[in-house]
Amino acid sequence: MKSSPHRHTAAVINLENIAENINRVRGHLPGQPELWAVVKANAYGHGAVRVARHIHDMVEGFCVSNLDEALELRQHLITQPLLVLSGIVPANVDLARANGISLTCPSLEWLELIIEEHQDLTGLKVHVKVDSGMGRIGMRSADEVNQVIRLLDQEGMQFEGLFTHFATADEANPDKFEQQRQTFDNLVSQLERRPRYIHSTNSAAALWHSEQVGDIERLGIGMYGLNPSGEAIELPYELKPALSLVSELTHVSKIPKGETVGYGATYELAEDSYVGTVSIGYADGWTRDMQGFYVLVNGKKAEIIGRVSMDQMTIKLDKDYKIGTPVTLIGRDGDEEITAQDIANWRKTIAYEVVCLLSDRIYRKYIG
Ligand SMILES: *Cc1c(COP(=O)(O)O)cnc(C)c1O
Repeated sequence: MKSSPHRHTAAVINLENIAENINRVRGHLPGQPELWAVVKANAYGHGAVRVARHIHDMVEGFCVSNLDEALELRQHLITQPLLVLSGIVPANVDLARANGISLTCPSLEWLELIIEEHQDLTGLKVHVKVDSGMGRIGMRSADEVNQVIRLLDQEGMQFEGLFTHFATADEANPDKFEQQRQTFDNLVSQLERRPRYIHSTNSAAALWHSEQVGDIERLGIGMYGLNPSGEAIELPYELKPALSLVSELTHVSKIPKGETVGYGATYELAEDSYVGTVSIGYADGWTRDMQGFYVLVNGKKAEIIGRVSMDQMTIKLDKDYKIGTPVTLIGRDGDEEITAQDIANWRKTIAYEVVCLLSDRIYRKYIG
């Protein structure tokens, strides 16, 4: 979708907050792990290229979810190590090799496929994925992992890393985390050969299980200043949200009592009201279930009334306002604040989804 910089609506990304969050997390990690910033999904909606450029010298590498995300960073002259966290289409492995991009090997089967499809894989950098209990991708037996390692060596590939991923590092109950940790440690103890990097931790693990951080911390949501657990566990130290979402009133109408607002006529005005229009809708990732929630205008809550349309929505104002009056959808206005978590709670989802869903149409404006 086309980014729309000439519109009233923008996501404002505070790059300094991201940098501070990285420093803060690093300061709390024991040992000297490398920090690889997770900038998949356009840096969780924050803009992968701009974020990566800003923190380039603060981290040792970047993680992305697919080859195209990695290539985008390379095209923008990001020279750090890049790791693709998901399995990629076997036929495209050459592209990774040519661009010095590290790949995840999720199974022996995948490795055999890429060997079948490519004459020469010399130097391809590979991180071997262990499924210690997430049940998504990765190998579950030491035997399979050792076969993979032998095959990597045989084909002249670089066995750069071995890693796993925790399913419940963001939960108060540590049982499943402990189980996964033991499964992983047990498998690592049976390795025929250790790679340069063994790693397992995401943001939640770094925050609440920092002793588990190995050679690399894969830092995602925490760097954007959001609590991975939602409200389940308090952050052990402050992180600063990096994204706010702002707009302006495009129109204000005085509409009489008894009239309805929006598609489906789902909202009937109980009194003569000032109704404001805001240029954001479900095509921006501002989903229809936001009806009934609120935004901030002039430091006060203004309810979202009527259906959220594709490109616009309507809010109930306490008085008449001029076109161009600021509207805050995520962020602070005076004494009031709306966080991505507040929106996640309203939608019964997680803050990750709220920021990731903000579509490309929303212009990203950078400060710091
Ligand atoms: C997304 C992801 C991360 C980062 O997770 P956060 O919770 O955002 O820190 C780390 N590792 C893997 C394998 C991932 O897919």
